[in-house]
Amino acid sequence: MNVDVAKNLHEVLGNLPKDVRLVAISKYHPCEYIEAAYAEGQRIFGESHEQELKLKVEKLPKDIQWHFIGHLQTNKVKYIAPYISMIEAVDSMKLLKEINKHANKHNRIIKVLLELHIAEEETKYGLTPDACRELLADGEWRTLDHVQICGLMMMASNTDNQDQIASEFETAARFFDEIKAHYFADSDAFKDRSWGMSHDYKTAICHGSTMVRVGTTIFGPRVY
Ligand SMILES: *Cc1c(COP(=O)(O)O)cnc(C)c1O
Repeated sequence: MNVDVAKNLHEVLGNLPKDVRLVAISKYHPCEYIEAAYAEGQRIFGESHEQELKLKVEKLPKDIQWHFIGHLQTNKVKYIAPYISMIEAVDSMKLLKEINKHANKHNRIIKVLLELHIAEEETKYGLTPDACRELLADGEWRTLDHVQICGLMMMASNTDNQDQIASEFETAARFFDEIKAHYFADSDAFKDRSWGMSHDYKTAICHGSTMVRVGTTIFGPRVY
């Protein structure tokens, strides 16, 4: 292992206020990297491919909380439903219903975040603020007893322009407040604002993030 995972992890943790959680993004990194972070007390890890995740789940300690952070196809939900702790990137009613169906089969309630699309890139997944408003206004989500909507997730534009990144996080934070007030005022569970990655997590914290998803800064560059 030529990356000092323990040192990098503690550096990141040292930058986080107490109420901000770290999701260590371990996709494409071997199990030994995850074990090194685990040995330092890290318990929340994020993965984006169902098959890679499955192999890691089989090998690694059972008290790890796995977050699915990538785009999730509905036909993959059944594979991760037995154990996934949170599905971060829900961007359609169809996916939400599928998660509910499989969570029900396993007698679980799966935590989810709605993925917001605010960044300028066309390629990114996620709900625009209007699509998100529509999904919630429709109300069918209230009948889904086996999913718990815990907040919002978003990725800022992939740019060096920190002003633009900050403005996108701020838009997300204001949108969170709107949705919270309209639909989740009584829900203690709706509290997560998952934004911030290696290159922008410090900015994200200044703009309301409660959960940062950091990979490269902890584990080094991914080898694809
Ligand atoms: C890969 C990934 C991350 C981590 O990115 P880094 O730049 O390595 O910190 C965060 N969020 C999502 C959705 C990702 O796919």
